[in-house]
Amino acid sequence: MKAHFLIAGLILFSFALLHASDDRKPNIIIIFSDDLGYGDLGCYGHPTIRTPELDKMAREGLKLTQFYSASPVCSPSRASLLTGRYPIKNGVTRVFFPYHNEGLAPEEITIAEELRNLDYHTACIGKWHLGHKEEFLPINQGFDSYYGVPYSNDMTIDPAMKLSEHIVLRMDMTKEMILNINDLEIENKNHLTPLMENDEVIEFPADQETLTKRYTEKALDFIEENKDDPFFLYLPYTMPHIPLFASEDFQDVSQRGLYGDVIEEIDWSVGQILDRLKQLNIDENTLVIFTSDNGPWLTKGLEGGSSGLLHEGKFTTWEGGVRVPTICWWPGQIQPSTVSSELTATLDLFPTLVKLAGGDFSGHDIDGYDISPVLFDSGVSPRSEMAYYSDERLYAYREKAWKIHFYTKSPAAKKWQGEKHEPPLLYNIEHDPSEQYNLNQSHPEVVQALIQKAVKFRNSPEHVDITIEVVDGTLGYEKIMITGSINGAGTPVQMYDDGSNDDKTADDHIWTKTISQIPVNSQYEWSLVEDGGSAVEFSLIASDPLQLKVDEDGNITGSTKYIIKGSGPDQVDITFTVTDETKSFKKIMIKGTMYENWTSLDMYDDGSHDDKVAGDHTWTRTIRDIPIGATYRWGCSEDDSIKGDIWLVKGTNLNFTLGADGKITGKSDYIIPLDGE
Ligand code: MG
Repeated sequence: MKAHFLIAGLILFSFALLHASDDRKPNIIIIFSDDLGYGDLGCYGHPTIRTPELDKMAREGLKLTQFYSASPVCSPSRASLLTGRYPIKNGVTRVFFPYHNEGLAPEEITIAEELRNLDYHTACIGKWHLGHKEEFLPINQGFDSYYGVPYSNDMTIDPAMKLSEHIVLRMDMTKEMILNINDLEIENKNHLTPLMENDEVIEFPADQETLTKRYTEKALDFIEENKDDPFFLYLPYTMPHIPLFASEDFQDVSQRGLYGDVIEEIDWSVGQILDRLKQLNIDENTLVIFTSDNGPWLTKGLEGGSSGLLHEGKFTTWEGGVRVPTICWWPGQIQPSTVSSELTATLDLFPTLVKLAGGDFSGHDIDGYDISPVLFDSGVSPRSEMAYYSDERLYAYREKAWKIHFYTKSPAAKKWQGEKHEPPLLYNIEHDPSEQYNLNQSHPEVVQALIQKAVKFRNSPEHVDITIEVVDGTLGYEKIMITGSINGAGTPVQMYDDGSNDDKTADDHIWTKTISQIPVNSQYEWSLVEDGGSAVEFSLIASDPLQLKVDEDGNITGSTKYIIKGSGPDQVDITFTVTDETKSFKKIMIKGTMYENWTSLDMYDDGSHDDKVAGDHTWTRTIRDIPIGATYRWGCSEDDSIKGDIWLVKGTNLNFTLGADGKITGKSDYIIPLDGE
């Protein structure tokens, strides 16, 4: 018995040393499937989907059973994988669409950039989804080359995309139709998706049936070409994101139907790659990691996958949304047929891989840990916590076996809105991986302890209302937009005043925007621009941006008022004449408001206050900082006491508007007629 332990110990020891002593830098391949659930592989318990290649990969390598994606949706999940930072930090908190101009901020450092600096050849083949505008494409984020669909396969082309001279147009598509794609009425238009090479569209619409096959061929070519140098291949499959497609060889092959066909083709693809590494004799110098970006799309019924015994799927912070099947493979370095339930995450790949490649990640503000002990030594993970975000909000937090949910949503049960839980729900997810038994009543002390620890990740107020006021002294702008960003990158916030969107009324010039989960102490910069009709074409009106900060309690410091200086006056004298034909009112008050906002001005005529002389019934009032163009409403009332009862003398209000030239249009004379009408 003792001898067995000794031998096992020696084997472990030798595995631990090998990867460190190899002279050549290891090749690294990350295979990232899209919306593949925790229960969708044979080796993770699926009864009818056959995945012999992935099962073999697991037998030859390490299967992780508590490995997390940092987000339950595509773009943030990918941004976190590549940067080792939570979405709230890297700025990609939501899914990008073809109409978005944003992407993963170029200042963020990706694994590809780090590895390229360490002399790796790098390629991204597959779904990118971190911005399709040129500056955000893989070739500008550390990859030598790119081939694939730039976002999800249910998103059509952005007519502004660069088309290759040799573009293949399919299904009777023309370049003119691409330019007008947003206006065309085509059935399932969002399934017409572009295929790109580097920064150009080379095929539209992409032949989705052959995508997995073509990605595989491209991957094999890249491996072959770089077999003598260290390489990093990032292979994010487009599948099994819906719409589902399999190539001819895989259609109708699976007992599980179309979804099974798609997974079985992915399985074939992985087998091709591992076989090629063996044929080229570089398998013992290549680490391959297979995983998924988030859980299965359960609301799509049979077209969606399975999260196995985990609760819920994609879009949610239940385990089924973020815990993903993960297999690590490196013959000679990773022990065959090992399974680890240590806590690990996509966030950990950045530091782990950079270190393996001989780099240093200590200077980076990352949320990942070096999980080499788990991969190579069957060791303990340095990770003991996981923060679960939905968009910008911290929904749940896990520390070791315990997980609390501050919020939940359950699309599979048709609950799309986040539901708040007070106290948070509590599960022991090692005892109860399906999150069936809420223990918050029996373990309040655990709930409290986790709330305390989660504070670090809930690093901002949940939402803040920022009201920005614009005074247009020129009256020259029909459309005004305020455009702001956090820390100068990502998460742009835009507010319009042309009445066309953002549910504002034109000309009111006061906007309130609720911003959720703001990174505390980050700097907000707002610019005021004239919008020429779209979010892209605008010109800057004022060059000094408003700057403000939001603190942990939601307090705003800095300026929120914007004055466009024009020819308009900054003060105006308004004279009201009240003619009392009845001569019966001893006390009269004029009460006014500015554009329905209760910025009231009261003027009395009883000689008692407001420095007026009784009985003259003519008042002049100087008003400063008047929003030009705003409408003023004034009512004339009998005042029975200083502050108390007020009767309206006449039902009509005086309405007037103040022009940029200081001229008043409308009425400022008030006649109280004898008949009192
Ligand atoms: Mg996805």
